[in-house]
Amino acid sequence: MLRFDPDLNSWSFGLYFISVMAAKKTIQKEISLSGMGIHSGKNVRLVLKPAESGEITFLRVDLGRLEARLNPRNLEARNSTTLLGEQFQVRTVEHLMAALFAFGINSLSIELDADEIPIMDGSARPFAQAIKKAGMRRLALPVRPLKIRKPLILEEKDEFVSAAPSPSGGGVELSYSIEYPHPAIRRQSLSLKLSPQSFVREIAPARTFGFLKDVERLRSRGLALGGSFENAVVLDEEKVLNGPLRFPDEFVRHKLLDLAGDLGLLGRPLIGRFEAHKAGHRLHVKLVQFLLDHPEYWTAA
Ligand SMILES: [Zn+2]
Repeated sequence: MLRFDPDLNSWSFGLYFISVMAAKKTIQKEISLSGMGIHSGKNVRLVLKPAESGEITFLRVDLGRLEARLNPRNLEARNSTTLLGEQFQVRTVEHLMAALFAFGINSLSIELDADEIPIMDGSARPFAQAIKKAGMRRLALPVRPLKIRKPLILEEKDEFVSAAPSPSGGGVELSYSIEYPHPAIRRQSLSLKLSPQSFVREIAPARTFGFLKDVERLRSRGLALGGSFENAVVLDEEKVLNGPLRFPDEFVRHKLLDLAGDLGLLGRPLIGRFEAHKAGHRLHVKLVQFLLDHPEYWTAA
């Protein structure tokens, strides 16, 4: 078996090494995006910078460049997924994380000047397009995918998330099903094998969605302050208010996007089949933390 030995980390060895094992990846060029936080309602400038560190770090340029590392143990998930740093938090990380996960980017410096990732158009398409345009680069740093070796399921009432070994022995397969007693949604389900291509085509454009009847309640709790027809599909009791939809089943596609983003918080490639039914960020993050606490369910491939 080929093992990484830092003493042998010559240029040629590094090249040979990354040619036979998965390597960490970063972006080739800096990416700059601006937008509004969907919950905070604040404008935020986001800059993604190539990094050689092998880690995803968040840096607050408005707080004297305070830094926090992506740590999947320190998360809070309700209406969105929040990374809890020691000195600051980063809200609504999931759509950016989904794009990074789909492209296999796990070494990056994320600079921002507010406490939330901008919602852009409510989807991951602006992030995916920017990453494609910037290009990617492999680093001479190995990464060992987390490979599911035995099935598990986490259930709460009529919701569940599950993980199982990959039937094909490689890659990530995602399945989602939802049921809403709403004429524009009803039952929707979708499965796909995640790749940069399938992500860009099938998942990244799907926008977040919300119900008009919930807006008042969310705003009274200081949430959805930046939500609008420009960054979310909004539904009243009967219909979509700001159509057309980008896909007839845009809702379940967005749930797959959220699941990909939350699984991406593990910060490494995954090998397995992941399924969710009527779940949300809270249950997705519970699965991430269950995997961290129960290494008997996986191997480092
Ligand atoms: Zn979402």
